[in-house]
Amino acid sequence: MAAARTVRGTRDLLPEDSARLRAVEGTAWQTAQRFGYGEVATPIFEFTEVFARTLGDTSDVVTKEMYTFNDRGGDSLTLRPENTAGIVRAFISNSLAAQLPQRIFYRGPMFRYERPQKGRLRQFHQIGVELLGAADPLADVEVISLAHEFLCALGLGGAITLELNTLGSSESRAAYRTRLVDYLQGHRERLSVDSLERLERNPLRILDSKDAGDRAVIAGAPALADSLDGPSGEFFAAVRAGLNDLEIPHHINPRLVRGLDYYCHTTFEFTTEHLGAQGTVLAGGRYDGLVAQMGGPPTPGTGWAAGVERLMMLSGVQAVMPRPVAMIALGREQSGAALRLARRLRQSGQTVQFAFGTSLGKQMKWANRIGARLAVIVGSDEVARQVATVRDMDAGAQEEVSLDLLEERLAQSA
Ligand code: ATP
Ligand code: MG
Repeated sequence: MAAARTVRGTRDLLPEDSARLRAVEGTAWQTAQRFGYGEVATPIFEFTEVFARTLGDTSDVVTKEMYTFNDRGGDSLTLRPENTAGIVRAFISNSLAAQLPQRIFYRGPMFRYERPQKGRLRQFHQIGVELLGAADPLADVEVISLAHEFLCALGLGGAITLELNTLGSSESRAAYRTRLVDYLQGHRERLSVDSLERLERNPLRILDSKDAGDRAVIAGAPALADSLDGPSGEFFAAVRAGLNDLEIPHHINPRLVRGLDYYCHTTFEFTTEHLGAQGTVLAGGRYDGLVAQMGGPPTPGTGWAAGVERLMMLSGVQAVMPRPVAMIALGREQSGAALRLARRLRQSGQTVQFAFGTSLGKQMKWANRIGARLAVIVGSDEVARQVATVRDMDAGAQEEVSLDLLEERLAQSA
């Protein structure tokens, strides 16, 4: 029955899944806050052109992966496939350039029409940061070290590798592009259909192709590193020096390229060998041309995004669910007293679940099933004497506690 199924590539988060997701997001947010980042939440849908213009009409995301629809007013809208475009749109809409740099954190669901598999969903979650208005290579060092600290806080320090590359300044990148296209034009007949398409619009992306024929051609291509002008080399050296100052290990991976024209200088990925083909958990880079391309004041930018589901699979973070207190009324007449007691205990910070029904046997079974650490049992003669029975569910021992002292007693065994 379609009415009771989720759409392919989407899934429900049950309480434990949600708790684990929150734990990963919360760790990222705590780390980002210590670096002075503030959270920006943009709408999950935007005008389609926000993404079409920023991601480029030839990127895989735009050509194959977007959830685009016309709303009832006839506007073309798209569920966000990523959040950098939305953040930059918000940066412009809210005139945030008045105060630079801007340190922005975000989290939330993203939507891409992809073939679902392990670590690849159609609705998934990202967390990310964007640092806008800082052209300094130390800004790249900052966002990379923030990522590194976050991943270490998740206990992943030993499971991940940082790969790093540079595309150079916009000028040296453009010069390289010309050299690359000249070379690839000479080998057109050996390129894949996808790469022939990329040759026109984002030839650098061909360097990242997984097609065997493409790879053979790429092996002989001029190296990007040889096209770096002096300032580009210095910029990259400064990024690496900053990472070395912080003792953050990294490998240079010359294949790490981003196809679009507004990317420059630093690109990086944190990868793992523990997730099979979906090994990239966090990816980012510098995008100095993006704000201007979207119609804002020319503003440099750098940042990254991480896939929360992949991090959840990798880190095995456990859900932290508080063990509740079970509140049990022995009979209808005691329900008023039990309700008031439950409220009092919740106000003192306890997690209290109320038992429905009146069979003590069933209620105790239920208290066991929910993993209650204590049961508070309210009977008629106890109410009269202003006491309640507190049962320690693990030890099986029970005692009478004066209602006045209940909060104190519960706090003791928390
Ligand atoms: P991939 O090569 O895996 O498709 P990407 O280059 O499309 O990744 P980005 O756009 O850089 O990924 O997104 C940043 C991160 O978001 C990825 O490194 C990954 O952890 C996560 N991610 C991307 N797409 C998905 C998806 N469909 N399902 C789950 N996580 C995803
Ligand atoms: Mg992808």
